[in-house]
Formats: sequence, structure tokens, C-alpha cells
Amino acid sequence: MATARPVRAMDPYAEQFWAFTLSRELRLQRCAACGKFRWPPGPTCDRCLSDDFAWSPLSGKAKVLSWTTFRRGYFPEYPPPHTVVALELAEGPLFISYPVDVEPSDLRDGMTLELRWIDATDKFGEYNLPVFGPPAARG
Ligand SMILES: [Zn+2]
Repeated sequence: MATARPVRAMDPYAEQFWAFTLSRELRLQRCAACGKFRWPPGPTCDRCLSDDFAWSPLSGKAKVLSWTTFRRGYFPEYPPPHTVVALELAEGPLFISYPVDVEPSDLRDGMTLELRWIDATDKFGEYNLPVFGPPAARG
């Protein structure tokens, strides 16, 4: 059974983003005019103001920019201490997520993390939450 999560902020663009997560696809809007990926989703490109876009798949590779550990509880679903990480996705957008399978004390500026998925649910229904962990061992 999917894990209860804080209620997502929802609009027509967010709804499409989350729909792709049901098939474990991380897709962001990519401007059809200039090619820039954008996040969070919205109606126009912040570089060229075009409103043409496609939902393009991402590699799931990311670089750690920074992180912080909350020692106060803000959501019952995320009991403290809860670490949040700021990532730069390989395609460029900045993305806030949280780390899995890595101790916060082992996080390093610039380290590579890869996309993982966690089953989740809220009042809008089931979805998969993109989280990030160390690259899987190559065998
Ligand atoms: Zn553009």
C-alpha cells in the first residue's frame, strides 16, 4: 500500500507531471522553441516566453548542490530529522527532493545521485514520488 504523503499542490501542469510518475517517468516541460527544460511546470518558458512545450523524459541523474536537515516536524509524514536535498538535474533544472540510502553526513557537494521512486498517496490519489539515492552498483 502506498505511503501517505503531505497533500500535493495541484494545477493542470502539476497534474500532468504527476500522471507521468504513475509509470515512473520523470518528465519535465521542455520548451519547443528554445529547448530549455523548466521546473516547476507552468504556462510559458522563462527564457523565451514561448508557450509551446513537450513533456520530455529526463535521465534521472543529478548532482547535489546543497542539503539541510529539519529538526522540527512540519509534516507528520516526515518526522524529524528530515533531510531535504537541492539537486541540479543533468539536463539543467534545479530540483528539490530528499535523499534515500545515503546518510546525511555522507552527502557531499557535487556528488552524483540517481532517481528512485517511492509509492505515495494523498487526496488526489496514488502517485510515485521522485527521490534520489547513490548510483546503483554496476555489476
Ligand atoms: Zn524557450
